[in-house]
Formats: sequence, structure tokens, C-alpha cells
Amino acid sequence: MPQHQDDICDVLIAGGGPTGVTLAVLLAKRGVSVIVAEKEADIYPLPRAAHIDHEGMRILQEAGVAEAVMQTARRANRYDFLNAKGEVLLRFEGAGQIGPGGWPAANMIHQPSVEAELRRALAAQPTAQLHNRWELKSFTDDGAGVTAQISTPDGERTIRARYLVGADGARSPVREAAGIAFDDLNFEEPWLVVDVLVDDYSRLPTENLQICNPKRPTTCVLMGEGRHRWEFMIKPGETPEQVSDDAFIEKLLEPWDVKGAVRLERKAVYTFRARIAAQWRKGRVLLAGDAAHQTPPFAGQGMCSGLRDAANLAWKLAAVAKGEAEDSLLDSYQPERAPNLRATIDMAIMMGKTVCITNPFSAWLRDAKFKLARKLGKLPDGPPAYPPISAGHILSDRAGAGSYFPQPLAADGTRLDEVLGLGHWLIDRRDLATPQLAPFARQLAGWLDKHQAEAVLVRPDRYVFGTGTSSELEAAWG
Ligand SMILES: Cc1cc2nc3c(=O)[nH]c(=O)nc-3n(C[C@H](O)[C@H](O)[C@H](O)COP(=O)(O)OP(=O)(O)OC[C@H]3O[C@@H](n4cnc5c(N)ncnc54)[C@H](O)[C@@H]3O)c2cc1C
Repeated sequence: MPQHQDDICDVLIAGGGPTGVTLAVLLAKRGVSVIVAEKEADIYPLPRAAHIDHEGMRILQEAGVAEAVMQTARRANRYDFLNAKGEVLLRFEGAGQIGPGGWPAANMIHQPSVEAELRRALAAQPTAQLHNRWELKSFTDDGAGVTAQISTPDGERTIRARYLVGADGARSPVREAAGIAFDDLNFEEPWLVVDVLVDDYSRLPTENLQICNPKRPTTCVLMGEGRHRWEFMIKPGETPEQVSDDAFIEKLLEPWDVKGAVRLERKAVYTFRARIAAQWRKGRVLLAGDAAHQTPPFAGQGMCSGLRDAANLAWKLAAVAKGEAEDSLLDSYQPERAPNLRATIDMAIMMGKTVCITNPFSAWLRDAKFKLARKLGKLPDGPPAYPPISAGHILSDRAGAGSYFPQPLAADGTRLDEVLGLGHWLIDRRDLATPQLAPFARQLAGWLDKHQAEAVLVRPDRYVFGTGTSSELEAAWG
């Protein structure tokens, strides 16, 4: 095999899934040189993410693809957990309401289409490259950088990078090679996922549904324009081959009475798991997305979490690569992100454990418990706000520090981030009448009032660094 000359870049990303490509776009927008090595020839084609939340949409906004994604995104009326009799156990509403991120709270999408938009955005960045069929084989970290061996269709290549990010999915060869273990959060259930093309929407539900029927726990959710999804729990004794058979799937869909309204597009069997890597950084190697954590999909947060990792890492890696911050800034990545992931995964496990009950008596008990809690008004009516950052690169003793800074919309629909752009923001009460901030003054003043603050410093990932006076915030930010 021929050996190619060294490629040199600031950041090498192993894995061209949504986490790796988003990170690459956000880095390139900050002028960082980045190479994405993706071992497959194309975008992963099988069914995966169908939902993206408002915060994920805001990150896609920064990547420049949110409008394109919204063009085909759909919104469910509600997210209902129903028992076998069709009674409501849990109901989440408000998917279409604008969330703190400045986009509708819950958007139903088709993951490969989102990834295609991200790849288009990456292709427009002069400091970024994505190479399909480039497989990271090994790497060494010598303390000053990482040297990686990549196998390509044209032979072996060596890449020298200041940092390596393993965004290489659940099986993450980077995580394996770095010797980083998983903390197993004890959830493991095999499911069949079926995506269909829709010819007649009038015959499909307009809500997202979890059918908590112990005979066959089932999920039925909207997707991006033109598609719909069912997921079926696989029962003991059933094999992946058996349940993936088209005739078997047709039988599973019978109770939904959609024959003639939908056509089977793709199917896959997955074991839904909950795991989190013990270490997200080791020397010059970082993990992001599914490589660092996996959640059962019941809360629709796996890809969203990877996007948040990308947003958290991008400005830090960029600042370090440009010599504007010490390498130790990267140590704040795991303490800031891991608690958010644990809360996200806990929520998904709670949902999963509610759905995946196959024992009729346990299902009866669950139904009774939820019905009573619902009657007493003790159940949430929407997904929880995940915890703020509590430790990391924030002024933790200041009001609002570590919380998510909302993106207000002006009366004409303009979003705050469009006006203020990349980078950190110092928003001072005294500046709210400036032409830039005036359209958002009411919401920004409301935020400052709530936190009894003169000014707020918002980090580039839109989490609050701290509140106080402008001069002290500027001095603390450095
Ligand atoms: C059924 C199902 C439903 C889901 N629903 C949702 C949902 O509604 N909302 C949501 O947010 N998330 C959802 N998810 C989760 C979401 O799909 C994943 O979290 C997301 O794809 C992870 O992105 P990633 O980029 O981290 O990893 P991946 O998408 O797995 O990408 C990793 C990439 O790395 C590449 N790679 C691996 N090894 C190497 C190597 N050695 N060299 C180079 N490249 C390599 C792989 O080929 C792959 O392309 C769902 C998942 C499933 C299975």
C-alpha cells in the first residue's frame, strides 16, 4: 500500500455522523482547520433519530442548516403514553410552542436528510474537509498532538492533529483504543424499528404515541415530511431475522389499518442501551456523541445530546487551537456535559421502563399508579428542563450561571443569534436601547430582572458564564 504524506490540521474528527459533522462545521466557522474521517461511503441509511428539540435546532441554526431542516420537519399534536385500553397514562403537550432555544419545542425529522444538510454546510467551509471511506485505524498521543493512521481507498495516510475527537458512534474505536470504559446504566431492550413512506396522511395518527400494551409495547411517531415510524418491542424467543421479515411487519401493522396508506421504506433491529463513558477526555483525545454516551430513544435525545457536545466543544477547541485559551479549558467539557447526559438518560430510562413492561400484572400496577398520579396532577405535562451546568467554566456563585440562555425572537421573527453572531456576548442593561438589541429589549430586560443582574455574559454555546457588572464579567472571561 502506498504511504501518503502527512496531513496536518488543528482537529481530526473520527466519524462523519451528526455529531462529527456538526462539530466540524462549528469549528470551521471559527477558522479552525479540521478533517473529518468517515469510514463509510455515505450517510448511515437505516432508521435512527426522528426528533430534534429546540436547543438542537438552535445549534443547527449556528451550523446554517436550521431553515432547511424546518422546511420538512413536522410537529405532533402531543406525545401520549397510552395503556392497552387506550387510556392516557402520561401526556406531553406543546411540541409546537417556541422553546427557549427559539425554535418549536419538538420537531419530527428524517436523520439522513438532516445529515445531508450538515454535509452541504461543511462542504462550503474552506478550512474543513470530510472524507468518506477514510477509516481511523490507530493513533498515538505524544502530549503535543495526535498522529493517526487512516486507511483510505488510495492507501494508508498519516494525519497529524493537535486534537482528535472520537465522534465515531456507539462502538467507538477511538474510545476502545483510549482504553475508556463505559458506565452501564442498566437498560437493554431489543426493538424493531420500521420507517414507512406515506401516501395518505389522513389515515395516520397526528400524535406521537407510546402504546404501553404488555402484549407488544409499540411506538408510533411522526417523522419529517413524507414518512412515519413504528417501533415494536421484540419478545423473548423472537429473532431479529423473524421480526424483520416483511410479512411479519405487515402483521404488526395490521391493528393500525394503514394498508394502502403507507409503503415500507426501511427497517432495523436495535438493542436500546443506556451507557456513559467514564472519561470524555484523555490527553489530546476527546469523545463526543454516541461515542461518549448512549440513551434509549424514548425521549428522542441521542442526536440532540451529540449536538450539545459539539456546541460545548467547538468554541473551547477553537479558543485553544488559536492560542486564546489554555488547554485546561477542555477539562471543563465532561463536568459540564455529563450531568446533563445523566439526567437525559434517566428521563429516557423512566419512559422506557414505563413502556417496556410485558408482565400483565406489572402493567396493571403501572396503569393504576399513573392513572392515580394523573388524577392528582402529579405528572409532568412536558419533558423536563434538563439541569443547568453546575461546575465547569462558569462563575458558579452568580445568579443564572450555567443556565441555558434563551434565544428571543423579535416582532419580525428575527432571532437573537442571527444578530449577535458567533462568539460570547456581553449584554448590559444599559445597551438594551441600541439598534442591535432594541428588538429584543423586553425579553432581555425580563431575563436580567429575573436574575437581578446589570449584565450577563453568555458563552458561545449559549450557556450563561455569569452575571454582574460588565467590567467584572469581562475581566473574569479574560
Ligand atoms: C431507533 C433509534 C431512534 C432514535 N431516535 C432519536 C431521536 O428521535 N432523537 C435523537 O436526538 N436521537 C435519536 N436517536 C439517536 C441518534 O440516532 C444517535 O444518537 C446519533 O446518530 C449519534 O450520532 P453520532 O454522530 O454521535 O454517531 P453516529 O451517527 O453513529 O456516527 C458515527 C460515525 O462514525 C463512523 N466511524 C466509526 N468508526 C470509524 C472509524 N474507525 N473511522 C472513521 N469513521 C468511523 C461511523 O461510520 C459513523 O458514520 C435514535 C437512535 C435509534 C437507533
